[in-house]
Amino acid sequence: MEQNPYKNAMAQLKKAAEIKSFNLTEQKKGKELFVRLENPDREIRISIPVEMDSGDTHIFEGYRVEYNNLLGPYKGGIRYHQDTNIDEVKALAFWMTLKCAVAGIPMGGGKGGVTVDPKKLSKNELEKLSRGWMRMLSDVLGPKKDVPAPDVNTTPEIMDWMNDEYAKITGDKSGAVITGKSLGKGGSEGRGMATGLGGFYVFQALQKKLDLPDKCAIAIQGFGNVGLNAAKIFKEHGHTIIAISDSKGAVYDKNGLDLEKLEEEKKKNGFLSANMTNRELLELKCDVLVPAAFENQITKENADKMKAKVILELANGPVTPEADEILWRKIESMYEKGIWIIPDILANSGGVTVSYFEWEQNLRGEHWSEKEILRKLKEKMTEAAEKVFEKAMENKTNLRMGAFILALQRLGEKI
Ligand code: NAD
Repeated sequence: MEQNPYKNAMAQLKKAAEIKSFNLTEQKKGKELFVRLENPDREIRISIPVEMDSGDTHIFEGYRVEYNNLLGPYKGGIRYHQDTNIDEVKALAFWMTLKCAVAGIPMGGGKGGVTVDPKKLSKNELEKLSRGWMRMLSDVLGPKKDVPAPDVNTTPEIMDWMNDEYAKITGDKSGAVITGKSLGKGGSEGRGMATGLGGFYVFQALQKKLDLPDKCAIAIQGFGNVGLNAAKIFKEHGHTIIAISDSKGAVYDKNGLDLEKLEEEKKKNGFLSANMTNRELLELKCDVLVPAAFENQITKENADKMKAKVILELANGPVTPEADEILWRKIESMYEKGIWIIPDILANSGGVTVSYFEWEQNLRGEHWSEKEILRKLKEKMTEAAEKVFEKAMENKTNLRMGAFILALQRLGEKI
């Protein structure tokens, strides 16, 4: 089960449904919700023809999964990665459904992707692929139907191309069909750092409750939009980033890293000069470990070796259900044994929350200030974190299950 993120996601759902004090499957509506969440509303596979710079036409496999829209239009990013497949997209779309519910925003869950290594494409090919993805899905997407956004390897520029393609096909120039656009093209203030910042607000809301020190030592896996932004924000607030990594390896310094220097180095060389492996980074003794890269990083193979006090899941699905069990152990000893995991569907919901703000601004033809966006984001994240903690305590369970219970209750109200 461990490597299939969709099976892992379904195992989490089953576990939440079985929590005795919550009793999802014992209620009629609960049963209906459970079976609906076991299946996506719609899975779409597309073949995108792209004329390559060589003159040959190459077909890329693309996806859109519309998982559930009980709370509002499907919402979720588009991933470009050579290993992306339908099961990964389905898992991500399921988690989006719960994430929007946890964040308290009126949107459903969806996700998209293309199986491609974008680093191997020229800019021209990347633009053709992105416009092709939108062209083939323009009839199912729409501001009131399904609203994509960026994810791994997709950027504001890609969102702009897609938005432009949609406007050409449908005549809708509101920009509300896709979020994460650049600022000049209808994007929102604060979107770039939203996931990292949202994670920081969640951390702040739970810091004392989880018995973390005022100044934490932090290790981060991932040097992309989420990992790097989170690193900068934690550092600005006086915490020490002791390690950070990209796909090639990790850089470690127990006294704290110079992020600007690392950023310059990455720009120049294309990678970080690693002095540690990614695996070693995960096993570091630290206050907070932040997985911000991919799924299935902490599994039953390495869970026992974790020495962090808290894991803040900014990536989606980085901890498998088996590892969850190993890390959690018993609630009775909550402050002594076990490692608290602040789950993805809470910790990284800042991204979709600001995406939702962007969608609202586009629909109303407004542009909100950064100050206003950050105030609203902090309010939403703090409220979500406190509610998740409350649900976990009420049901004597961990924070992931607390978040599932909150989400399932909110979704259940719409059945
Ligand atoms: P990104 O493409 O900007 O960055 C991904 C980073 O991961 C890169 O630095 C890459 O070098 C690194 N990486 C790749 N393979 C690795 C490996 N094996 N070990 C360590 N690092 C590796 O992507 P992103 O937008 O930062 O997304 C990262 C994670 O956060 C994903 O799980 C994504 O689903 C999740 N997420 C993103 C957003 C968002 O707004 N972008 C929102 C919610 C969740």
